[in-house]
Amino acid sequence: MSNIIEGMESFFGRGAFESKVFADETCCFIGAFGNVGVVKTDEGLILFDIALRLFGPRVFQEVRKFSDKPIKYIVYSHGHFDHCLGYAPFIKEIKEKGWEMPQVIAHENCVRRFEKYRMLSKHQLWTYQQQFASVGVTMTDTESIMGALEPTIIIKGNESYNFSLSGYNFEIHHDKGETDDSIWMYFKEKKVLFTGDLMVSSYPNIGSPFRVQRYGKDWAIAMDKMMKKNAEFLLPGHGFLFKGKNDVQDVLSITAEALNFVHDEVVKRLNQGKWFEQIYNEMLDIYPDKFKNHEFLQPKYGDYRFAITDVYRLYHGWYDSGNPTDLFPAKSSEVAKELLKIGSIEKYLAKAKMLYEEGKFQLALHVIDIVIKGSTTASNSLLDAYNLKVKLLKRKVEEEEGSFIAVNILKTSMNQLKTNIKELKQELK
Ligand SMILES: [Zn+2]
Repeated sequence: MSNIIEGMESFFGRGAFESKVFADETCCFIGAFGNVGVVKTDEGLILFDIALRLFGPRVFQEVRKFSDKPIKYIVYSHGHFDHCLGYAPFIKEIKEKGWEMPQVIAHENCVRRFEKYRMLSKHQLWTYQQQFASVGVTMTDTESIMGALEPTIIIKGNESYNFSLSGYNFEIHHDKGETDDSIWMYFKEKKVLFTGDLMVSSYPNIGSPFRVQRYGKDWAIAMDKMMKKNAEFLLPGHGFLFKGKNDVQDVLSITAEALNFVHDEVVKRLNQGKWFEQIYNEMLDIYPDKFKNHEFLQPKYGDYRFAITDVYRLYHGWYDSGNPTDLFPAKSSEVAKELLKIGSIEKYLAKAKMLYEEGKFQLALHVIDIVIKGSTTASNSLLDAYNLKVKLLKRKVEEEEGSFIAVNILKTSMNQLKTNIKELKQELK
């Protein structure tokens, strides 16, 4: 089994691939990293998303188990790499069979997103390698954006788009949420919602640490609009298929409620003239158990704490502490060096170890960083500091953090520290 599939299993808690026919055998749900929805009509297929590059061949196989009809439409729920880049085997088949190219439906901001990714492909890769460290992302994942199928039907602004195929009717709507290019589809006759990442079966991915602004309030509005459809099925962008009106309405309403909560409570505190740290900590204190414990809001990928930062960032600039020291800060290594002159490396190390023993991992990290950043020469104390930081990050992964993104960031840093440890040991020999 490849690393990526093992990683996906740990993310979903199940096999990476799952294929399920539903809605009177008109639809097929293919669970991959980035779910794929397939609709079968007499004239051909509609694919809602086509997964990531690596999973393209497997998704293709599953689609062809379900139906041998040509693909008429591909809909990009949004332009993230796990939803639009599994195109290669589909294009190969179209060319071999001499079929017409399918229409590709996307929002105009998806076109802009592809342009941005092409401009920033190496930076994208650098962030993916941290965010998706446990599953392994290679250059070809970012290169594959170069060959992505360009949209042919482009949804502008807040326009909706309706189309029919073999007597079935489909509505496409745009709402901002995880991204500014999200579109969702409703299959009217069979009452199926295809949501893309507006729904991910766990806490919404808002405020992702490496990513640009997201839109909590608009996201909640999208949930409300979807609820009005009274759908029987909901295919999320990640995670399991929701079946039955009750489950569909439940997951939409609790997600909308959670998004409205984080948005409105941060806005309330902004209007009270509070700085970020105060808002953040108050928000942690008031987070209701009904969200914390809800099975559809677990922080498997997104995290409530990330969401607080996202809402704040939507309405406030980068100067968030209210402390003018932070306006034009000195280098953190220079600050640490000065602190070490006052306290000595050994005292800081001893303090960090004590905090570690007391289970205060985060506080211990802040203290150990003074040793790491302030050390100017190779020393056994620095080696101890690296080792302690590895232990601290490991304990946080094992005991405190559940978000796939947070865990990967911590693990990436652990790996970097292990490299530093090896190099330092060489130097100390
Ligand atoms: Zn996604």
